[in-house]
Amino acid sequence: MSAPDLASAPGGEACGSVAAPLRQRGQHEVFCGLTSIIWLHRKMQDAFFLIVGSRTCAHLMQSAAGVMIFAEPRFGTAIIEERDLAGMADMNDELDKVVERLLARRPDIRMLVLVGSCPSEVIKLDLDRAAQRLNRAHAPERRVLSYSGSGIETTFTQGEDNFLTALVRDMPQTDTAPASLLVVGAMADVAEDQFERIFRSLGIEDVAFLPARRSTDLPSIGPDTRYILAQPYLSATVTELERRGATRIEAPMPLGEEGTTAWLRAVADTFDVPAEKFDAITGPGRERARKAIAHYRGALEGKRVFLFPDSQLEPAIARFLHREAGAEIVEIGTPFLHKAITAPEFALLPDSVAVSEGQDVDRQIERCRAADPDLIVCGMGLGNPFEAEGRATKWSIELVFSPIHGYEQAGDLAELFARPLGRRAALEVAV
Ligand code: SF4
Repeated sequence: MSAPDLASAPGGEACGSVAAPLRQRGQHEVFCGLTSIIWLHRKMQDAFFLIVGSRTCAHLMQSAAGVMIFAEPRFGTAIIEERDLAGMADMNDELDKVVERLLARRPDIRMLVLVGSCPSEVIKLDLDRAAQRLNRAHAPERRVLSYSGSGIETTFTQGEDNFLTALVRDMPQTDTAPASLLVVGAMADVAEDQFERIFRSLGIEDVAFLPARRSTDLPSIGPDTRYILAQPYLSATVTELERRGATRIEAPMPLGEEGTTAWLRAVADTFDVPAEKFDAITGPGRERARKAIAHYRGALEGKRVFLFPDSQLEPAIARFLHREAGAEIVEIGTPFLHKAITAPEFALLPDSVAVSEGQDVDRQIERCRAADPDLIVCGMGLGNPFEAEGRATKWSIELVFSPIHGYEQAGDLAELFARPLGRRAALEVAV
């Protein structure tokens, strides 16, 4: 690990720049990849996510997703019992029985996703092979695949990355021209529908989204596929897409007016849409987004924001807050710094912006306290203690649960950060 040669950050500890980020490998505070099931099961409406894990995994999911007792949820946990851990039962036989019972009771399931956990990885249960075996037994009515959501991964958004990687491996091959567009990364349906309408108005008809809303709509992929990321935390998916021959369209994430326009323009340029047509189609949306953000700019302008590493959306959020809301960025922490994916974000940020990759949580908390920012964007585990110190926080997990992409959601995105500042100001007045 290279030692950074860096400017001094508030609090005395050196912090990195874009060119030479501070790299830290210590204790970190994040949710595990199982958390991604919460938004993925809502997105893909005929899939069932079967966690192969412990009671802890089941409790995490039930409390995080707030399952209603009368609802038929589309995720569950096959509990690994102590006798399984002790090797007294054949785990594959047990799993097959659980799957048989589940599929008999739930004929609506078209895709069964086996999700690995820390316990399944510790006992080296090979879920890829289990999925292949179950797939042979249940195809073509049902497709079975697997991915890892374990806490051995570093951050919760890697769950979606691993799931999409598994989906890409399953996508049929196509070698036919003309080029098609694939938008990669889970977005709220409302944002996806808006983008689809804009693409159609631009004359780009052959568009697919990954993940699709139905497992049977899995698109084909090949050398004529042009793909663009709608989420930045998909480095494993990127590797798999390129192995399948697809070509990435480079752009910042479609967050805020500027990010959305740059993202759409990158697609329009790839598909040779004339500039006048692009401006005419996107103009009204751009105007609405600018107005909506302006409404919150007064609350955010000049505010100092510290971002802890959590969702991997941090560079894109920092770019939005700095450029469109006028905030000052104290530190951008990110679990991983995937240079190729984040380059378009950092190209829009000052070179001097402080960047850290990975985490040593105690040292980062010290840096944050010393910097005394106006707003801290962090995971839930850090949010409450910071609030108790009288600091304003925003839980970064909300960024994956809330519709934030595109023009029509740009104001909501700004509001997500303005709201805790307003609440803190109201508390201070009341005190
Ligand atoms: S996968 Fe690991 S970190 Fe996540 S709930 Fe299960 S045991 Fe805990």
